[in-house]
Amino acid sequence: MSGRAKQSSKATLPLQQPQSWLDTATGLWSNARQLASPHFDARPSDEVSLLVIHNISLPPGAFGGGFIDDLFLGRLDAKAHPYFAGIAHLKVSAHACIFRDGRVTQYVPTTQRAWHAGESLFEGRTRCNDFSIGIELEGADDQPFTDAQYATLTALTKAILKVYLKITPKRIVGHSNIAPGRKTDPGEHFDWLRFRASLVP
Ligand SMILES: [Zn+2]
Repeated sequence: MSGRAKQSSKATLPLQQPQSWLDTATGLWSNARQLASPHFDARPSDEVSLLVIHNISLPPGAFGGGFIDDLFLGRLDAKAHPYFAGIAHLKVSAHACIFRDGRVTQYVPTTQRAWHAGESLFEGRTRCNDFSIGIELEGADDQPFTDAQYATLTALTKAILKVYLKITPKRIVGHSNIAPGRKTDPGEHFDWLRFRASLVP
């Protein structure tokens, strides 16, 4: 620990700057716990030009429990909760999920296509999974997100923006923006102004 602290004090970045990076070759974020999901495939092209913010909680409104990991890894126990019977068969994933304490698990490298958006439309283009990165926040439409989640989302997004220059501010959206009428997340409690302001250098 102390060795690392000494090293970072010599770095050129300000001390408060989150020292994290997205590896361009592997598509893995340095600050994430890695759990490889089987729910992904190759992108049809190299284009990554959209960031989609979601929320999820399993069962809905409950936090913790490890069920989000289970769903994205294809191992959710359909009998563990009545709600799970209807979703355990789904082959879905996101690139990463930010939990209530701010910790992140990454399930799919950003170089690959995760299965998070479903039927979707952005600026006339369908199949947003093809060209987007999907980040889940552990949460619910009717509850505020935590400060730790905003801090981590900012750090992760900054690392993404350094690599994927086509993701401009206008191309950072909520799931509800690309699947209106079908999806409501991240919901009205997600503070877009706060998040967008935090990205300004
Ligand atoms: Zn969503």
